[in-house]
Amino acid sequence: MFDREIFKAVVGEIDDTREVEKLGCDDCFERVDGFIEAELSGLNASEAMPLVHEHLYICGECRDEFGALLEALRAVEDPSSPVPEVLDRLWRRVTPSYAR
Ligand SMILES: [Zn+2]
Repeated sequence: MFDREIFKAVVGEIDDTREVEKLGCDDCFERVDGFIEAELSGLNASEAMPLVHEHLYICGECRDEFGALLEALRAVEDPSSPVPEVLDRLWRRVTPSYAR
């Protein structure tokens, strides 16, 4: 028997747990678009999505993916727009000094 209420309760619990745990690579990859969007829309992405920021900072693999995404964005954007500066700023913020 499948009880929808129990299922929802269990899923809700998993979600709650995930909030306090560190982000995994898959979660990070799912949210990284929003992270960039936040910065582009004038928010401080690191403050809006601290878990994504933290994961990018500690995970070189995801940071590489993130860098590739930034490069792709840079390539399609109008060079006269201020977007590249925003992307550079974001990149510097998630890159530890030893990885620069
Ligand atoms: Zn990762």
